[in-house]
Amino acid sequence: QARAGEAARATPMIAQYIEIKAANTDCLLFYRMGDFYELFFDDAEVAARALGIMLTKRGKHLGEDIPMCGVPVERANDYLQKLIALGHRVAVCEQIEDPAEARKRGAKSVVKRGVTRLVTPGTITEDALLDPARANAFAAVARVREDDATWRYGVASLDISTGAFTVADCAAADLSSLLARLEPREIVAPESLVRDLSELFANLDAPVTPLGREAGDAGRRLMDFYAVATLEGFGALSAAELAAAASAILYVERTQKGSRPALSRPVSLRESATLDIDAATRANLEIARTLSGARDGSLLSVVDLTVTSAGARLLAERLAAPSTDPALIGARLDAVAFFLDRPERRADLRARLARAPDLARAVSRLALQRGGPRDLAAVGAGLMAARDIAGLFEDKSAPAEIARDVETLASADLALASDIAVSLKDSVPLDRRNGDFIREGCDGELDEARALRDESRVVIASLQNRYADATGVKLRIKHNNFLGYFLEVPAAQGEKLLRPPFDESFTHRQTMADAMRFSTRELVELQSRIASAADRALARELAIFDRLASAVLARAEALQRLAEAFARLDVFTALAAVAEKRNWTRPQVDASLDFCIAGGRHPVVEASLHAQGKAFAPNDCDLSGARAGRIAVVTGPNMAGKSTFLRQNAIIALLAQAGSYVPASAARIGVVDRLFSRVGASDDLARGRSTFMVEMVETAAILNCATPRSLVILDEIGRGTATFDGLSIAWATIEHLHEVNRSRAIFATHFHELTQLAKRMGRLVNLTMKVTDHAGEVVFLHEVVAGAADRSYGVHVAQLAGLPASVVARAESILAELEAADRRAPVEALIDDLPLFSRVAETAPAKDALREALAAVDPDQMSPREALAALYELKRKA
Ligand code: ADP
Repeated sequence: QARAGEAARATPMIAQYIEIKAANTDCLLFYRMGDFYELFFDDAEVAARALGIMLTKRGKHLGEDIPMCGVPVERANDYLQKLIALGHRVAVCEQIEDPAEARKRGAKSVVKRGVTRLVTPGTITEDALLDPARANAFAAVARVREDDATWRYGVASLDISTGAFTVADCAAADLSSLLARLEPREIVAPESLVRDLSELFANLDAPVTPLGREAGDAGRRLMDFYAVATLEGFGALSAAELAAAASAILYVERTQKGSRPALSRPVSLRESATLDIDAATRANLEIARTLSGARDGSLLSVVDLTVTSAGARLLAERLAAPSTDPALIGARLDAVAFFLDRPERRADLRARLARAPDLARAVSRLALQRGGPRDLAAVGAGLMAARDIAGLFEDKSAPAEIARDVETLASADLALASDIAVSLKDSVPLDRRNGDFIREGCDGELDEARALRDESRVVIASLQNRYADATGVKLRIKHNNFLGYFLEVPAAQGEKLLRPPFDESFTHRQTMADAMRFSTRELVELQSRIASAADRALARELAIFDRLASAVLARAEALQRLAEAFARLDVFTALAAVAEKRNWTRPQVDASLDFCIAGGRHPVVEASLHAQGKAFAPNDCDLSGARAGRIAVVTGPNMAGKSTFLRQNAIIALLAQAGSYVPASAARIGVVDRLFSRVGASDDLARGRSTFMVEMVETAAILNCATPRSLVILDEIGRGTATFDGLSIAWATIEHLHEVNRSRAIFATHFHELTQLAKRMGRLVNLTMKVTDHAGEVVFLHEVVAGAADRSYGVHVAQLAGLPASVVARAESILAELEAADRRAPVEALIDDLPLFSRVAETAPAKDALREALAAVDPDQMSPREALAALYELKRKA
């Protein structure tokens, strides 16, 4: 109401602005005026600050100046990129009619405008705005009731820039690890979910956009979008997956305003069994980014030798979600081995792939009407490259994974490629607006219009001489957008043309400081001939563009498949290249519960040592047990290489299951279902919550979820609290892992007391970092050996760090005192006395009443109210 009143008192243009802005309150509004996008009011202030551009004003509204700033349309992408990076959303509002139309309606009427698209972090498509090496998907989250008490969550991940569309569903507990794996650039969810999951979303590094309304009838929406009458062709999607997919489509429609992107059909991730890696583990192993957020120094930065951006995106995806299917992993390793054995073919293929364009993104832009001549050229070049690459495999020796892709490439549509090649010039502009991209000689009508236009230009040029001769005046023919073609005469001579006999044929147009401008009838006629010929030529070029673009879109699916085949071949050859460059070995991944690494290395630490001319000390790790996993307890001084050892084993498992060779001399791995990695509180920087609380929450998650197939890496758990607290927690954690989870695990600790547990637990082994004394100096060999560390060498590290000699000396004498007092004795005694974890429950009589009560409860037969009552009863007994 207030707004309507406000609008009524504004100028017509500002009234229009206010109305459009009211419908897009959550976005900055880019309001098109001529060659600029202008921002007004608060938007102007926000944007001027964010972009560092000048804030001006334009007119008044309700008696106040209207703040304004603007960006040139030509450079809009640069500014959009900045705003998106800062987490803003932008609504782009264009003129949607010819200004001439508006003038016809009356002097005061404004050009019709409308928002033609919303630019948000998760929905961009322009190369200038995209990171070529990263997928740019948004995630739509939905939830549906599973039964009275539980929700099921659906997550759709949709990359508009490539058309990739996946869905998955999960229970509440798994939502955060699913989202972490998908790495969305933006999260979209209904208002209510945004509220309920605010804490979970806050931990993800992506802006959250509330969807105003729910997607309604999910199935209907999908059928409408894909224009199909049934969902049968989509495979079996769960209700939660359907709801999420529909929300994603709703968001696409909202942001793309009528343009229809070429989306593949939603594929359920349930089909592909993948290694589960939760958010904390992902961060801690520094897979795609280091803990400080940089790509440099991450695992990906060492492994990624891909030569195409689509390949880089696929490799990032493989590392984010390695497989758990030994057969698939083996097949992928066969493909890597094939290229490793054939360096020449690999080099050949990589050179060709490097020249192939980013097909998927080009096709997507064409589908959204945002494509230009270069996107068409990219499709043409992509098709040619496909055949060309298929030609490298005529000997049919390639293993199945490669052969399948080669077959796809061999089926590339050459007719379309040659259609594009004969139509487009060799070098074409990015934008189709100004024409000049269709080759001469491929369209008669176009050639004729162009000839006419160019001929007239020649005639105009010759006119200059004729007029000069006739008048004896020094004149030049020039062109600008306002006057069109005109004659320019130095001011002193201009007077002559204003007098007879010349005033008859020369019409005065403008007087400048030092020149006068005239036109003639001939010039005006030629001008309009040129203009109409140029218009016709442009219209013709655009028509040919549209014809080619629709031909491309008719084959969008096949083209996306080609793009995928390129990306897979790029990944296989890139992995072969890393294996060769870094001297990696083929892992054996099978269905056993083994974990046996010989000569393992940490790829990132090794690479950085290598760059400094230093060698990495390889280490073995055997966690294979007869029927269940072994737990290694690693002790040793700080800086001796414990963390590195722990992480390298997790990374080797991850790489192997991603289908890569691994940094080791031999590796046999029983496929891992879940990978857990935690670091103790004091290593965990930059978190708002109490770090010890975080550590305990995360440890709880492991103890609740890890299975005998899991691999667990725990680094200094319990170090965030007082010694006895910490020791007890670490102790209990190890017991639980050993007795209940029975996972394969490596546990680094500075509680030397824990090495005593090996006496009691059959599958526990002690490892320590080898240290020698060299001329009184302690030397770390970074070598892992059996046994327990005898002292912590903390004082030594203090010395290395440059503590004053007096402090070091004093610390040494205190240490000697403490050791003499034999501070370990009580704990060692305890270890002999305390019953083991599993027996605690059995022997604790106080808990028996509770157990019986619990056994008597039958959840399937209870109403929610009865369940609550039972819960109170149990609580009372506890
Ligand atoms: P800790 O966890 O025992 O404190 P780190 O694993 O952080 O020790 O290692 C400390 C440093 O030692 C690393 O930054 C690395 O430079 C070096 N280092 C670790 N492991 C090795 C190794 N196997 N070979 C060579 N240098 C190593």
